[in-house]
Amino acid sequence: MKFGFDIDDTLINLREHAFQIYNRKLNKNISLDVFNALTTMGIHEAFGLTREEGGKLWTSLRDDIYYSDCAPFPHAREILHELVKQGHEVYYITARAKEHTERTRDWLVQNGFPVVEGHFYCGMSDTEKVHIIEALKLDYYFDDKPNVLETLSQLPVKAYVKDRCYNQHLDLPRITSWDQLWEELKL
Ligand SMILES: [Mg+2]
Repeated sequence: MKFGFDIDDTLINLREHAFQIYNRKLNKNISLDVFNALTTMGIHEAFGLTREEGGKLWTSLRDDIYYSDCAPFPHAREILHELVKQGHEVYYITARAKEHTERTRDWLVQNGFPVVEGHFYCGMSDTEKVHIIEALKLDYYFDDKPNVLETLSQLPVKAYVKDRCYNQHLDLPRITSWDQLWEELKL
């Protein structure tokens, strides 16, 4: 079987990681309770920033956010290794900007994710992911982002949503914790 995964906020806890970096850079100490109460993908509101200010801050801190020590979600790495071990193909499909392709792939490898040559796609828009997923003929695809998941309904791929506060309205099978994957898939 072919499995495709988004990276940010699907396999790794990037928003929370960025939230803590914002705290440090802005010299604030806003609690994770505030983070957990957010219902938007953006985290800027928790810091009293406008969308534009938040966008600028994110851009200025992007290397730090992407390439420091963002934590994978519990069990994420282990299930990917187990899939590979069972003979499945694991693909990564991230809409990070193209210039982050090499470093993102390297970061995944350095942080213990199984990355096979040619199974890593980076630098498309959210609405272009569907074309890669279709061309690869993925059996399963996992993402957190409504804008992406909403483009997949015409494909035969079994799409799953990684449970996050901003995707609660999606009526799709939902992965809350990666250790539930085996039960979900019944492989
Ligand atoms: Mg994502």
